[in-house]
Amino acid sequence: MKAEIIAVGTEILTGQIVNTNAQFLSEKFAENGIDVYFQTAVGDNEERLLSVLSIAKKRSDLIVLCGGLGPTEDDLTKQVLAKFLKKSLIVNQEAMTKLDAFFANRPNSSRTANNDRQAQIIEGAKAIQNPTGLAVGSMIEVDGVTYVVLPGPPSELKPMVNQFLLPLLKSDTKLYSRVLRFFGIGESRLVTELADIITHQTDPTIAPYAKVGEVTLRLSTKANNQEEAKQKLDVLETEILSTSNLKTYHYGYGDENSLAAVVFESLRQKKKTMTAAESLTAGLFQSQLADFSGSSFVFKGGFVTYSLEEKSRMLGIPLDELKKNGVVSAFTAEKMAENSRRLTDSDFAVSLTGVAGPDTLEGQPVGTVFIGLATKDSVFSQKIMIGGRSRSDIRHIATMHAFNIVRQALLKH
Ligand code: ATP
Ligand code: MG
Repeated sequence: MKAEIIAVGTEILTGQIVNTNAQFLSEKFAENGIDVYFQTAVGDNEERLLSVLSIAKKRSDLIVLCGGLGPTEDDLTKQVLAKFLKKSLIVNQEAMTKLDAFFANRPNSSRTANNDRQAQIIEGAKAIQNPTGLAVGSMIEVDGVTYVVLPGPPSELKPMVNQFLLPLLKSDTKLYSRVLRFFGIGESRLVTELADIITHQTDPTIAPYAKVGEVTLRLSTKANNQEEAKQKLDVLETEILSTSNLKTYHYGYGDENSLAAVVFESLRQKKKTMTAAESLTAGLFQSQLADFSGSSFVFKGGFVTYSLEEKSRMLGIPLDELKKNGVVSAFTAEKMAENSRRLTDSDFAVSLTGVAGPDTLEGQPVGTVFIGLATKDSVFSQKIMIGGRSRSDIRHIATMHAFNIVRQALLKH
């Protein structure tokens, strides 16, 4: 379990108080076999807390927030977390009874509507009672991530952690997850295809996440051991991949994976060599191939042919043919692939020529890319449109498409 502690409070950032809660929590978690990977501090500010939460959600399984559960306006932790999780706040009866008793015993202190906020928890959360104060804590799991909210004063936080939180976290079941990676399908379409499965998910859960050019699904389940988890995740994975034609977009597993890694591994196993002739990507494809140790078995060398003249000179494509067909064309992509393969005597060659923008080229819109693929006995090209992206994204996504075309060719091989 990867835990992250988020201390909320502007006083921490201004140095008025020392973040001893994070130190205490880290120590207790370490004693109980829970790995703390990050400690974050953020001010009492909705926007910044939301941004910290969205980062934490991607990298942690357990997120513990402390501070900002009090009755004043700057105490906004629960409210912001509720907004982040798109849930509402509800009254916890046990905490409210305690609040009622507190004010009944103090006829001189005036109770305001804000006091009642201290007895609220996020709907669906488990309450963590506060033996030494009024603000109730809580714990909720959403999309495989557990969120815990605790008050700031150490005299309240410590007993809550020792008496309630640690026993709740210490269980025989562990969270196991598996990441499925997809290319060529957007997050919203993937989620729409899986709407039925996602609506009915309880365990395992499915959490989609979109990155530049690709989407991942994290499947998480609680199980007593690896074998039990594997069985549950296998069933869900089969169900997902048999939905529509999602299988064709699924290219691999794991957090640390990429199309380049999958292609490199496949080439290495099949003992095949690969080259590339790149225009708009100017070496991105080749650079990614060379990122892997042992790349010299797969990659002998290649070409960066940015200008029309260099496409002609380095790859031996007649200048007049390039001019006649256009640089951004199927003809040029295929010739680039064919000739670069022949010149390096590689098994596969990929080529990329297109419009990275911001200006159009030869009347072709920004994001138009032709990708060629040559093998010893075939050559073809594919036109791809990468719309509404920055220059840098277009170059990166075009490189991913090139790897994907090689991946598909290798599957057939
Ligand atoms: P309150 O009901 O007292 O307002 P709260 O949950 O809203 O509690 P904060 O307002 O953030 O918490 O902090 C209240 C006090 O708790 C701080 O003035 C400080 O003394 C202590 N405190 C808050 N956060 C921490 C922290 N991370 N480490 C140590 N002490 C803290
Ligand atoms: Mg406060």
